[in-house]
Amino acid sequence: MADACYSSSAVETAVALANTLRPVKGEDSLQTVEQLRDFLDAHGPAAEAGLTRADLTEARALRETVRDVLERASTDAAGAASLLNDGLRRSRATPELRHENGRWWTEVTSDTDRVTAHLAATTLSALAAVIATLGPDRLGVCAGLNCRATFVDLSRNGSKQYCTRTCAHRASVAAYRSRRSPG
Ligand SMILES: [Zn+2]
Repeated sequence: MADACYSSSAVETAVALANTLRPVKGEDSLQTVEQLRDFLDAHGPAAEAGLTRADLTEARALRETVRDVLERASTDAAGAASLLNDGLRRSRATPELRHENGRWWTEVTSDTDRVTAHLAATTLSALAAVIATLGPDRLGVCAGLNCRATFVDLSRNGSKQYCTRTCAHRASVAAYRSRRSPG
């Protein structure tokens, strides 16, 4: 693959954050400071010891922005862009040139020491870079009934419609059944 200017792990973090809320099932796995710490442990940036309720509130607000961007990018790219730009500005996102293992790359971090601002800078800049390199229709919501999980399609052909293979499989089984029993 040509050198992508987005970090796929940051893209995954953005999607994982949005999907801590399952709107159809009404499940929310970002309701406590402990859950926020678990999320950060799994997806970085490294959480400091002293996460507070304020951090949780900020992380939940960020989740709302990220989900909104993922939901609307393919139909309202300008709206998604302004959400991204506002969020990046608020997180004081700052690109930084890094060098490691003989390779140079830019990483977007926050010009603050707030962990949620780093999370915002990382995830929002990753989504912005996907839109800039692959197009806004790579962001989407699962077409599976009763799912509505979000996804970002980084595949070559960009034809993803479902969040996971499980959802795609379930949908094809349902379509097959409905063809077999018309009406
Ligand atoms: Zn799904």
